[in-house]
Amino acid sequence: MFTKGSKVYSVLKGACPKCHAESMYVNKNPYALSETLKMHERCSHCNTKYKIEPSFFYGSMYVSYGVGIAFAVAAFVISYMFIGLDKFTSFLSIVGTLVVFLPIILRLSRNIWINLFMHYDKTLVKK
Ligand SMILES: [Zn+2]
Repeated sequence: MFTKGSKVYSVLKGACPKCHAESMYVNKNPYALSETLKMHERCSHCNTKYKIEPSFFYGSMYVSYGVGIAFAVAAFVISYMFIGLDKFTSFLSIVGTLVVFLPIILRLSRNIWINLFMHYDKTLVKK
């Protein structure tokens, strides 16, 4: 399920959505903050253009809302139910989680967004 060829692989790894052969991002580390959203223009392996239309990745804002909620819920469940903190401290842990994981949330959103429009293509891998 998490191997090359599945969407999950491309989403988690930030790999090219069509060939899964290389990362879409210039710097693989999302915490290099000046390069968090810096992407290659095309895949050097299969020549797929990532930004298929101008401002294409603005759409990933919709996705990042959902991804952010998922992180917030996870932070709340862990801090309130498992650790047993009070509500205010749990709220602070949600804020902290969203700030700390922002680069990851941004990239996950972009990866999910581009994978809604592009699909894995086996024939591209062999080239
Ligand atoms: Zn590619």
